Amino acid sequence: MHLQEENNTVSITPSIGNTPIKRCDFLSGFYGTNIFIKEEFHNPGMSSKDRPAYFMIQDAIRRERIRLGGTFVEASSGNTGLGIAMIAKQLGYKAKIFVSKSCSQEKIDKLEEAGAAIEICDNSNGLHDFQSTQFRAQSFAAKDPNAYFTNQYYNTQNIRAHYKTTGPEIFQQTSGKVTHFLCGVGTGGTISGVGRFLKEQNPTTQIWGIEPKGSILQHYLAYRTTPQDIRPCDAIEGIGRNFVPGSFDPEHVDEIYQVEKRVSKMMAQWYFRETSFRCGFSSAAVLAGLHGFYHEMRFKSTDQVVLFFPDHGRRYLTKLYSDKVEINITNAIAKHG
Ligand code: PMP
Repeated sequence: MHLQEENNTVSITPSIGNTPIKRCDFLSGFYGTNIFIKEEFHNPGMSSKDRPAYFMIQDAIRRERIRLGGTFVEASSGNTGLGIAMIAKQLGYKAKIFVSKSCSQEKIDKLEEAGAAIEICDNSNGLHDFQSTQFRAQSFAAKDPNAYFTNQYYNTQNIRAHYKTTGPEIFQQTSGKVTHFLCGVGTGGTISGVGRFLKEQNPTTQIWGIEPKGSILQHYLAYRTTPQDIRPCDAIEGIGRNFVPGSFDPEHVDEIYQVEKRVSKMMAQWYFRETSFRCGFSSAAVLAGLHGFYHEMRFKSTDQVVLFFPDHGRRYLTKLYSDKVEINITNAIAKHG
């Protein structure tokens, strides 16, 4: 699907989506199967989050929830905020983005460049926490009649964007042969939308999420309840939650694997050493999930495994690549029973 179909008048939007998928020969050789990378950093805002940003904005405009010149408000680890800021500006709106203090300086710089007003908050623990990005964004929007809180954690357009665009692209680009899809889980929009689309085409396609240790979606997937003991999780920018977002639909998810932040960083540096490509933090978490559990994943040589890379390592030069860590790949494999 071409996003252009949703609005022919906007020049930026045709270039959202339709990102390439490339076979990674190094990973394919290493794990003995066919591994492809869905490269989302080719989007204009350089992340997958341009897709939901565009869908949420279009939906608000279509439903006349905001007047021209009004302010789109979002709580974001940076990428959704950037998509919102960029598209809002292009369409004649303003953007106010609430980011948590863990957001990388590279992303804050980009948000400023895109003309967004930025507020830095203590955490992104969800609407129940007064200091969270989500609570502050909602309160801000409630006080301004011409502001609209896109609310990616609860907006149905988030899942819809991936159901309508990312899922079909992956299916077409693999000629329908995709057997496994692995992505990080933050709002859950990507895994829920892509998972639903791919399972509708072929119910045996495995949909696997990756989250940092301490996040609660693995527990939620298994028991459909939140754990009794919820702590701040080992957050990796964009993924890891200590609440269950409305945009996470467990229906089409087979597994959620948990990875350590430290191991993800090592995987980023290992992948860079082997391929000269700098992946983003949540992409590195996907690599850590693949590496940590590939014995359990039992790939066949004919499988077609798609790894979702939402953004690029140049957004995390300081956090991921500035200090060299010791690379010990054997220790990063999960040991079970
Ligand atoms: N990785 C990055 C870098 C992100 O910005 C996000 C979005 N928060 C995700 C992964 C997770 O995607 P989703 O919100 O669709 O679960």
